[in-house]
Amino acid sequence: MPDENTFDTQEEFVKSLVPVPISSIPEVDRKCPHCWKRFGETDPGYDNAEDPVKFRCGHAFGEKCMKEVFRLPIPVKVELHPLSFGSGSRGAKLVSDTGVKSAIGSALYAYPNPDLK
Ligand SMILES: [Zn+2]
Repeated sequence: MPDENTFDTQEEFVKSLVPVPISSIPEVDRKCPHCWKRFGETDPGYDNAEDPVKFRCGHAFGEKCMKEVFRLPIPVKVELHPLSFGSGSRGAKLVSDTGVKSAIGSALYAYPNPDLK
């Protein structure tokens, strides 16, 4: 049943990410956790500034990076589910399996990977 948590493709999901003003992000977090480029800054000679988009977990990533990260060879349906990190939960298993404990991990793993059910 399609709803606000279901996207027919990863492209639809990326389109749903809401750009936020850089000023709304705490100074220390004003860089993309994926590529570490500071939001709004360009490299000399390139028009490559990253605009922040916010995931539902509250973490902000660069929009360009997320378009790249979610560019998969085949369309996949994206369903968002709350992810608990409590003892015995799927989130706890992901952390112990991967060792990922960073904000990037919690943000990305908030979105299900069919291989990790
Ligand atoms: Zn980035």
